[in-house]
Amino acid sequence: MRPLDLTEKDPSKKVTIYLDGKPYEAYEGEKFPVAMLANGVYWLTTSSEGRHRGAFTFGPVPVTVNGVKNINGRKLKVTDGMRIERQTYTDFQEQVEIDEGKPVLQYVVDVAVIGAGPAGLGVIKEIGGRLTTALIEEKGWLGGDLKLKGVKQEGFGDPKEALEELTELPENTRVFLGTAALGVFDKGEYFLVPAVRDDQLIEIMAKRVVLATGAVDSIMLFENNDYPGVFRRADALEVINVWGVAPGKKVAVVGAFPEEITAELDRWGIEYVVVPNPKRVEGDDRVERLIDWNGNSYEVDAVIMADGRIPDINPVTQAGGKLRFKRGYYMPVLNSQHRIRDGIYVAGSAVSIKPHYANYLEGRLVGAYLLQEFGFEAEPCVYEEKLKEYEPIARPLPRLPLDELSGEDVQICGCGVTLKKVDDVVKSGITDLQIIKRLTHLAMGFCQGRYCLFNGALLTSQRSGTPMDRLDIPVARPPIKNVKMKVVAGR
Ligand code: ATP
Repeated sequence: MRPLDLTEKDPSKKVTIYLDGKPYEAYEGEKFPVAMLANGVYWLTTSSEGRHRGAFTFGPVPVTVNGVKNINGRKLKVTDGMRIERQTYTDFQEQVEIDEGKPVLQYVVDVAVIGAGPAGLGVIKEIGGRLTTALIEEKGWLGGDLKLKGVKQEGFGDPKEALEELTELPENTRVFLGTAALGVFDKGEYFLVPAVRDDQLIEIMAKRVVLATGAVDSIMLFENNDYPGVFRRADALEVINVWGVAPGKKVAVVGAFPEEITAELDRWGIEYVVVPNPKRVEGDDRVERLIDWNGNSYEVDAVIMADGRIPDINPVTQAGGKLRFKRGYYMPVLNSQHRIRDGIYVAGSAVSIKPHYANYLEGRLVGAYLLQEFGFEAEPCVYEEKLKEYEPIARPLPRLPLDELSGEDVQICGCGVTLKKVDDVVKSGITDLQIIKRLTHLAMGFCQGRYCLFNGALLTSQRSGTPMDRLDIPVARPPIKNVKMKVVAGR
């Protein structure tokens, strides 16, 4: 077994891949960063500022594969003999080739559900085949965040068994896996949801749309928070539970919600230490130690951020929804039927942070509203009643020790936007996030602000004294997910 393998892998799938000419053991179809992690290699790319990065905190991992440049190694699945070379962010530029492209695929359905986590699956379950539906999921699996869990979940029990039941879908559900929805657009009586799968543009026309797009992990601001070996919660869970690889031999779990990770580490017997107040990560090309605000130093080879999740607001604002700030995060303003406006519903952790089971119930609730809208009998009040038992989770607003941090070493956004860069603009008196965005490029890069905008708002609020609910949060512009220009050119 490789140094960080947790499980035996299928020996018939064993292959050799090469990183910068050096051979490594991997398994056919394994994700490239996971294969390298299993071999103990964390550094995979270099930012525009020359910072070494891994694949589990920020941004893309540009690599050359068998001589072809500009492949995002983050999602790359390996095959035998694959020759991979590290690239830097600086030369990660799409070669714009506008060719004939693949013909656009078009579908017409009653309801398009974006996101196949517990909420999206709940919508489909409730509709029960009475309407035609399209279920669009960016990842290669159904189940969203629940799929990443190994330990029992409130209301569901064993996550594997729960998912077996949730993923039994009615026949007239068209499932688009590995497909990212790029936005929602009004087209008369229909909404157009353009989506992309393997450079193939798919246009879904739907009478109603559900945003079940979930939440994203909060990024913690400490020095060298982009070092190879720093993990976002979801990435750590994925490497452990989906790929059977440990994030490290000894791990530090940081943030206000360590139990989201420690239960899983216990399950696998991975050694860890909980450090609530990280200040700085140090090491050479990878995490070697973590220092906290009390001056304690912990010898670890990985750091996992478990500081809670926040709703992904980009699909909501792009589709015309308004936001409010409550319980420590921005969330959509909904009418009594869970809509942001006529025809567009939101369900699950895209609305508020709560257990998976409550998100599933909210999906069913939205499904029931949809059935009513289409003239079927349904009882949304049953789910409304059940949901009263689940008060959404409040996330404490972190207080950033802005003047005690070395702001150049803290990455607020993976695209070379440091804490210092944003802080300097705010300190100069500019507190309009639209302008901060233009001056610093915050929220204009690979994640489109999904991970970095919140921290930009927090910093602005803290420096200026403007409450979070008074800040003007920029509206997300389509496409809300990355897409090659050639895919959408000509539409
Ligand atoms: P819970 O948070 O309890 O797991 P949930 O269903 O509300 O429940 P997630 O599990 O995070 O939330 O599921 C949301 C899913 O939506 C994820 O699997 C994510 O990949 C998917 N998703 C988010 N944005 C898009 C998009 N633009 N296109 C396609 N899929 C998306």
